Amino acid sequence: MQVFKFGGASVKDADGVKNVAEVLKQFPEQKISVVISAMGKTTNALERLAKAYFYKSEDAETVLEEIKTYHITICRSLFPSENHPVYTELENTFVELYWAIEDEPTQGFDFEYDQIVSMGEVISTKIVSAYLNEIGLKNKWIDVRGLIQTDNTYREGKVDFELTETLVKRDLMPVFNSYNIIITQGFIGGTSENFTTTLGREGSDYTASILAYCLNAKNVTIWKDVPGVLNADPKWFTRTKKIDELSYHDAIELTYYGATVIHPKTIKPLQNKNIPLYVKSFLKPKEEGTVIRDGEKRLNIPSYIFKIDQVLISIQPKDFSFIAEDNLSDIFEVFSKHGVKINLMQLSAISFSVCCDDHASKIKELVQELQKQYKVLYNSGLELMTVRYYTQETIDTLTAQKIILLEQRSRYTVQMVMKNEITE
Ligand code: ASP
Ligand code: MG
Repeated sequence: MQVFKFGGASVKDADGVKNVAEVLKQFPEQKISVVISAMGKTTNALERLAKAYFYKSEDAETVLEEIKTYHITICRSLFPSENHPVYTELENTFVELYWAIEDEPTQGFDFEYDQIVSMGEVISTKIVSAYLNEIGLKNKWIDVRGLIQTDNTYREGKVDFELTETLVKRDLMPVFNSYNIIITQGFIGGTSENFTTTLGREGSDYTASILAYCLNAKNVTIWKDVPGVLNADPKWFTRTKKIDELSYHDAIELTYYGATVIHPKTIKPLQNKNIPLYVKSFLKPKEEGTVIRDGEKRLNIPSYIFKIDQVLISIQPKDFSFIAEDNLSDIFEVFSKHGVKINLMQLSAISFSVCCDDHASKIKELVQELQKQYKVLYNSGLELMTVRYYTQETIDTLTAQKIILLEQRSRYTVQMVMKNEITE
């Protein structure tokens, strides 16, 4: 039993869907659970829809029309016959969405968001499943919301692993007696009251990992548009290298610091059951890619994680006393209340400094609340550079013409908050 995950980029158009079929053809007679994300940028579009519906930020129906047209266009090229049942199926699914935005919202935004945004995965899997069946790759479409059970933390559902495992064993395992391939949704789950939840943006990798855990899968493969895990993001670095093998530990560290190649929650369940994770190119499925598995081996090259739009907030008691434990616990509470994630923090005698992503409005509210009790200084437009397995030489190169505002080093990792030197 294997688990495959295909992200939004891999199914962004008809050719992408056809390519998924090509990849699957390389694994004949094998039992595979295939987890698929929403097509292309559909989740972003559905987020817009949720906001249009809830906050009336724009006309919801227009946004929904756009989303529908995008999917129908893909279907036109996958299913030339207008009578193909997929069209009725899609029509019905979109009707559900129209109904969802017809009445006034009854619950909070996060709840409504999940009911709407989750449909991206429902739709993409219906299309891919129908296409695979059409070309003879027999498969069964499964609604993952009946398997992955979460609490009702909407937009960030916490998975009940015990219950999920029971359901997967009871309801999913037997399907493999009749089918080799099952197609299911990433990113979404269900509550005990049968409402839909989502697992957090980019959560489809995590879904693959949850299912692999519950199925005791032999391995998981995340199919991507890059050849594997690279030591830096090609968006920022020109000479990137593919990492052939990575320990679970290093993978957790790298994703924790912000490497976006895999969702940070993905590794832990796999590590617990010692299931290897492959990251491979969906364009070159025969190539090796990266394997993440148990191991002590440290990487022999530095890995870089670079984040822009950072803000450094420095918090000081108004009376110049020390920062004490009770201040810290207050401060953390304010961060958590405003949903601001901390990328780096440092404590000194009279101030506590925190580096986080600059979500302008959230930060403004956070700072205003902190200012009631503390003197707060902040500095925006910064960069955060994290290097795992650094050398002094790499640091020197990276920090040339930079002013370092804050630095933290541990044995293997260095993090620096910096900005460009102003040149005349
Ligand atoms: N479609 C979801 C998102 O874009 C989940 C995923 O792609 O992993 O966030
Ligand atoms: Mg996506």
